[in-house]
Amino acid sequence: MVWFRRDLRVHDHPALSDAVARGVPVVPLFVLDDRLLEGRWPSPNRRWSLLGALHALDAQLRARGARLVIRHGPPEQVVPAVAREVGATDVLVSRDVGPWARARDHRVATALADEGRVLRARAGLLLAEPESIATADGRPFTVFSPFWRALSRADRRAPLVAPTVIPFADIAPGTILAAGPPPADLPRPGEGAARDRLAAWMADGLSAYHDRRDLLDGSGTSRLGADLHLGTLSVIELDALAAAHGGPGADAWRRQLGWRDFAHHLLWHRPELAKEPFRPALARALRPATEDPDAVAAWREGRTGIPVVDAAMRQLLATGWMSNRARLVVASFLTRHLLVDHRVGEDHFMRHLVDGDLANDGLGWQWTAGVGTDAQPWFRIFDPVRQGTRFDPDGGFVRRWVPEVAALPDDLVHTPWLAADGPPDGYPAPVVDLREGRDRALAAFRAAADGDAGPRGARGPRDPRG
Ligand SMILES: Cc1cc2nc3c(=O)[nH]c(=O)nc-3n(C[C@H](O)[C@H](O)[C@H](O)COP(=O)(O)OP(=O)(O)OC[C@H]3O[C@@H](n4cnc5c(N)ncnc54)[C@H](O)[C@@H]3O)c2cc1C
Repeated sequence: MVWFRRDLRVHDHPALSDAVARGVPVVPLFVLDDRLLEGRWPSPNRRWSLLGALHALDAQLRARGARLVIRHGPPEQVVPAVAREVGATDVLVSRDVGPWARARDHRVATALADEGRVLRARAGLLLAEPESIATADGRPFTVFSPFWRALSRADRRAPLVAPTVIPFADIAPGTILAAGPPPADLPRPGEGAARDRLAAWMADGLSAYHDRRDLLDGSGTSRLGADLHLGTLSVIELDALAAAHGGPGADAWRRQLGWRDFAHHLLWHRPELAKEPFRPALARALRPATEDPDAVAAWREGRTGIPVVDAAMRQLLATGWMSNRARLVVASFLTRHLLVDHRVGEDHFMRHLVDGDLANDGLGWQWTAGVGTDAQPWFRIFDPVRQGTRFDPDGGFVRRWVPEVAALPDDLVHTPWLAADGPPDGYPAPVVDLREGRDRALAAFRAAADGDAGPRGARGPRDPRG
């Protein structure tokens, strides 16, 4: 049996290739677990993408003579039951490293072991398994640069080709729920569409990544995050293709793939980061959403009166995505100018991002809020106006998503409150004065920093050994 989870593909799939190589019939299984669909962050966007990816995986398996077997229920009951039904001794999976996945896999492995069956984990989600990258004295990394140097030196496995034929065990496949209409303007889900996106990115985008990645409209990045999250693409294959392509764009992009591994490395070694910041004392500067509900609602809905923030937040609601630069800007605005708990933003992102990912989202929010490992210092605050004029110089991004300011001249499009008559009709004045918000954040973080004994369990935020 191959139990699929966040690896919804047939290309470069070590667990699937291992099962096929055994020369016996294979059961490709996916378990629709209510906790997966509705869990901590129910997200219509990701649910739709997941169901679409399952239909696409079934199509790939059918083309090779098999089917995707779908069952509903708790995996610790369903997986052993299917194994019993077909007499499978081994259940192969791509190893997942988040705390929820680890607890689930432990329950399933225990239930299987009670019947003399074995859950066997294979690589498949990351460039390197988290414990294989360590400091010289065997400790995990908490700083990206040395982690990246170690990861760059580590051996990579070579990508595997997709099996051409998959012998299928005799079992009723069950029904994949219909995905229904997309809840937002989302990318076409599934491995086939993902491979088309990948080919287009390699041909047209990768070379210029280092120059164009910070454009706020997101036209300079791959948009493959959801494919990496659901595993419709393999990061090993992406990295190998980029390495073969070469050049500064490919080098910069491979480093970003390394950040994804770093986020998973951290979560493996410090599962508490899924819920708690790395620097809890510093995080005390931040306030709960209930202290300023109107400002938080304005942030969520894209009507803060700061065009660049509103454009990005509206793009998120409409498309389930925003660029990394935009994520940095809106996250800084929430946690600095509004001084709101980063978990409020993490929660909102996880509900809407089609690439929403526990490890990457947690790292991104803790980094921007200054409360994570290797975080930006608390006194560094993004000025949204400067970010706008720098990374959306012609105002095309804000004009697209904030039509209220579209008619303003270029020199006012990022600062409509400076227009002689104030902001255009229908567009609000800023929810916070940028200078006052900045000064308030600096004061609050300075006070919290005085009580901050440093990151939990680490020697210091800039320990060069990580
Ligand atoms: C506040 C905040 C929240 C974020 N939340 C998420 C999230 O939920 N899911 C998510 O995948 N990324 C998240 N990121 C990281 C990054 O913004 C996205 O991965 C990226 O914007 C996705 O667009 P892309 O696929 O075009 O990326 P590209 O620039 O083309 O990068 C390729 C891939 O590398 C990985 N990657 C790139 N940058 C990062 C990074 N900084 N950290 C971790 N992985 C990275 C992603 O898998 C991405 O798809 C967040 C960043 C911030 C600042």
